[in-house]
Amino acid sequence: MSAPARKSTLPLLDTLDLGGKRVFVRVDFNVPMHEGRVVDDSRIRAALPTLEHCLNQGAKLIIASHLGRPKGIDPNLSLAPAGEVLAGLLRREIILADEPIGDGVTKLVRDLREGQILMLENVRFQEGEEKNDETLSRQFAALADVWVNDAFGAAHRAHASTSGMGQHVKVKAAGFLVAAEVEALTRLLAAQKVGYVTVLGGAKVSDKIAVIEKMLGKVESLLIGGAMAYTFLAAMGKSTGSSRIETAHVETARSLIATALKRGVDLVLPVDHGCAAKFDAASPRVNVDSPDMPTELLGLDIGPRTLALFERKIATAKTVFWNGPMGVFEWSAYATGTFGVARAIAGSNAFSVVGGGDSVRAVNEAGVASSISHLSTGGGASLEFVEGREMPGLYALGWRR
Ligand code: ADP
Ligand code: MG
Repeated sequence: MSAPARKSTLPLLDTLDLGGKRVFVRVDFNVPMHEGRVVDDSRIRAALPTLEHCLNQGAKLIIASHLGRPKGIDPNLSLAPAGEVLAGLLRREIILADEPIGDGVTKLVRDLREGQILMLENVRFQEGEEKNDETLSRQFAALADVWVNDAFGAAHRAHASTSGMGQHVKVKAAGFLVAAEVEALTRLLAAQKVGYVTVLGGAKVSDKIAVIEKMLGKVESLLIGGAMAYTFLAAMGKSTGSSRIETAHVETARSLIATALKRGVDLVLPVDHGCAAKFDAASPRVNVDSPDMPTELLGLDIGPRTLALFERKIATAKTVFWNGPMGVFEWSAYATGTFGVARAIAGSNAFSVVGGGDSVRAVNEAGVASSISHLSTGGGASLEFVEGREMPGLYALGWRR
């Protein structure tokens, strides 16, 4: 990965001389674990360009991350397995501290030589981390000559290692992952309305209200699929059968539809559905060729006519943002809409950004990841950035919207 273009307000890593310096890199190694093993190492791989750059420059590398939501010290949420994976990927030895901070860590850092790597234990083992505690922030800062934030996935959190310590380290920079995310998402936010298509889906309207509102002020077309489409259809008086709709948000959906109308946004809802009799992977797919569903069926995917409609809108787009699968793509009978949208975006000439953990996974499973302009790995952080919210992890780097 090459270094992305310069943003005046984001200090970049490749402008710094790191040789012999203690470089504290906050990464996002909040990886999925199963029985003490890392099940998906994408987040670790995503940090490699930054970590390798520091090592090539002769830094004394200190790596910090959180993992999960421990209440105090929890051996099940140790970063040791992630450290082993990283050691394998870097083909280097990693010294694993058994605590995130303390006398032991101070001594390990003092003894660190150029090109050596120390990985701190899960920063959330310290309760001050999530409280953005001043003392802990200063303790982390005392370990570092340079603070590098490459934890985009945690950039929406004001915690000691993602934000607080930034005030106490003079030299700081965004890692390559953070820089690439900021660049791509900024470009997305700056895109012109003409030819801007956003596709939203996923499980719940309630997770996405802020994004929908934001997008209604930006896009030419807003295509809605996934379970949240049914709440919108219910708001329009369609029969949604046995689909799970968020009754508490039918009114929200109604007002979002009104906003779309007022702003002249082309809001597109499913016109047909892939349905099942039960919420079950083995339940056979029944295509319902109507926006209305029969009472005994529930919607698990967009139907073929909806997919064709979405494909047409995407084909001519200049900018595409996608968040949220079109159906229960985890079940093959209901993956058609999601994989179809993934392929349509990959096949378009648009500048395309896909965000959201499940959506990015769907793009990977559809085998089209390399044809998407930017896969945003930040999950909640990507959405908050797109919503226009404050990003404490970026603010601490001196970045301003
Ligand atoms: P992302 O992680 O990309 O932001 P979400 O977490 O919002 O996406 O939504 C992903 C989940 O939505 C998937 O697990 C998928 O199974 C679920 N989903 C999508 N459509 C439906 C549907 N019609 N019924 C039930 N679940 C759905
Ligand atoms: Mg998700």
